[in-house]
Amino acid sequence: MQPAKEKKKSNHFNKKYMIKTVKYVRMVVQLIFFVLLPSLFDQAFTGVKNTADAIGKGNVLQWDSFTKILLILLIVTLLFGRVFCGYACAFGALGDYIYFLTGKIRACINMKVKHGKAGKIKYPVLAVILILCFLGKKDLVTKYSPWTVFSFIASGNFKETFSSSLASIIIFGIIIVAMSVEERFFCRHLCPMGAVFAIVPSGILARIHKGKNCISSCHACSKNCPLGIEPGAEEERGECITCLRCVVVCPGKNLSIVNNKAKN
Ligand code: SF4
Ligand code: SF4
Repeated sequence: MQPAKEKKKSNHFNKKYMIKTVKYVRMVVQLIFFVLLPSLFDQAFTGVKNTADAIGKGNVLQWDSFTKILLILLIVTLLFGRVFCGYACAFGALGDYIYFLTGKIRACINMKVKHGKAGKIKYPVLAVILILCFLGKKDLVTKYSPWTVFSFIASGNFKETFSSSLASIIIFGIIIVAMSVEERFFCRHLCPMGAVFAIVPSGILARIHKGKNCISSCHACSKNCPLGIEPGAEEERGECITCLRCVVVCPGKNLSIVNNKAKN
């Protein structure tokens, strides 16, 4: 029989291995989407802007590629939660890469940041954008959007990048700095698409479920959550990006991604 000490060591090794595997697999999936479909979030966002614009003008909504992508992402979110944010959004991936690459700098200067919970500012941001589009000022939103700058950079269109408004370049720069200080800063606090996805009743088929047998109350799950939420909490369900970090760090295997109906 395996001695208790060795068993503990092997479990610890397996856990570390699992955590790293989940982390790198997600990074690779994000990289694939980043390279192949970097503008998905911008297209979905254009779908949101176009919808508000069409309603404001009393026009019939165009059934174009933007609306189709928005609808597909909403259906995916409805069924599986915000997997788009966790795996496929290029701007979310950009935040993850920046935070990962600046980790050594934060460690060197011993930077301690009090991470905020997934915030509510993104809802007023979304509301302002919708009102502007409803009033026919869609171009104003595009002009000051940091996403416009990122879309030009992601498509290698540097000439257009520098023709963006100075305000949008400055906002983009501030967001990049903030992303290197707080994990998923933009997603937590500002993203209007994140607000849209958080409003959708998400994860009908798969979402994070927390069992009742939390053995250690170590809070490893919430401490490791990139959004700073309480994994499995019903009221924060819409903020979860299904990164699975909480599932793999839990020492008691108390979290899982499940079919609601099967477990509840
Ligand atoms: S919250 Fe916004 S930026 Fe973050 S991953 Fe989701 S859509 Fe992308
Ligand atoms: S750590 Fe858990 S609760 Fe937090 S975003 Fe990832 S899957 Fe969701």
